Amino acid sequence: MTLLQNPHQSMTVLITGGAGFIGSHLVDYLLRETAHEVIALDNFSTGSASNLRDCKTDRLEIVDEDIRNEALVANLVAGADIVYHLAAAVGVKRIVDNPLESMQTNLEGTENVLEAAADDATPTFIASSSEVYGKSEAIPFSEDDDVVYGSTSSSRWGYATAKAADEFLALAYHTERDLPVVIGRYFNIVGPRQTGQYGMVIPRFVEQALAGDDLTVYGDGTQTRSFTHVEDAVSITHDLLTTSSTHGDVFNIGASDPTSINELAERVIELTDSDSGITHIPFAEAYDDDFEEPDEREPDISKLRDAIGRSPTADLDRILRDVINERTDAVVA
Ligand code: NAD
Repeated sequence: MTLLQNPHQSMTVLITGGAGFIGSHLVDYLLRETAHEVIALDNFSTGSASNLRDCKTDRLEIVDEDIRNEALVANLVAGADIVYHLAAAVGVKRIVDNPLESMQTNLEGTENVLEAAADDATPTFIASSSEVYGKSEAIPFSEDDDVVYGSTSSSRWGYATAKAADEFLALAYHTERDLPVVIGRYFNIVGPRQTGQYGMVIPRFVEQALAGDDLTVYGDGTQTRSFTHVEDAVSITHDLLTTSSTHGDVFNIGASDPTSINELAERVIELTDSDSGITHIPFAEAYDDDFEEPDEREPDISKLRDAIGRSPTADLDRILRDVINERTDAVVA
């Protein structure tokens, strides 16, 4: 394994989407574990200044701008030694509600970053998603598996398609312009600071349980997901980009520990000691009539383990306790 960086040697790191959920944890990680200067570019559409409020250091600069601003992105990338591109319109609900802005952000934003990074061969991480596998039923999902999407008339598939196009683009920049780029497909990354506002299941369930409201499970709740603690996700993201043998390749980033959404709801109720019940509602009521949701989504993480020698370690209870503690501490404080 070749590490590109000495953590004690100061570099400038650009994180797009740095005020977001994963991005802000990556900021924390880099400020804590390295001597780097960090620039967080974010338009605060789903991110928040409060995510960065504990970073009291002059090693962090926050740039409130849009990733679609090509000149600005070119300028910031030119001044960076490495780039983590996480800015995106995220969450199925947001994509369904704002398809045009979402597609533009997720396509143009990534091209702006890649084109600028290619000029100086700046090592770049591109955040992709398990959504790229679409409705494939080849569980667990391996990076080279075929993908299966629904119709283009269903805006739900726009997110998956844009992320897949980002991957094609990144791999093309690697092949034709020698860009040292690595693509990480995140699988249900969860933990403190994630908002339930855009349909993410764990924060939504925890907020409902703490309020004593019924937990609303979409569909029959037998669908399974593997949840990954955000702290595992950011340290793995960092290891992937700083390991040069990963460049030009795609990696699943996730835990391999599936839980059904019904089990998840029951566990949230137990851990919050809540009197809440569970209500099932059809997907069509939560999204729209043509909504499709895969039953299972579990990563094959053997390629990740082979590349960096490790995989996520935090289990579901640790994740849930951290999310619950964040909300209850905020109430007490
Ligand atoms: P997030 O919404 O918290 O982070 C995205 C950030 O990008 C936000 O801070 C938002 O304000 C910013 N942003 C959006 N549009 C922008 C624009 N036009 N210009 C500048 N900034 C903009 O979500 P997250 O969960 O932290 O996601 C980070 C990345 O990881 C995204 O690329 C997402 O697609 C990917 N991802 C996340 C998960 C997950 O489970 N959380 C799963 C798969 C993929």
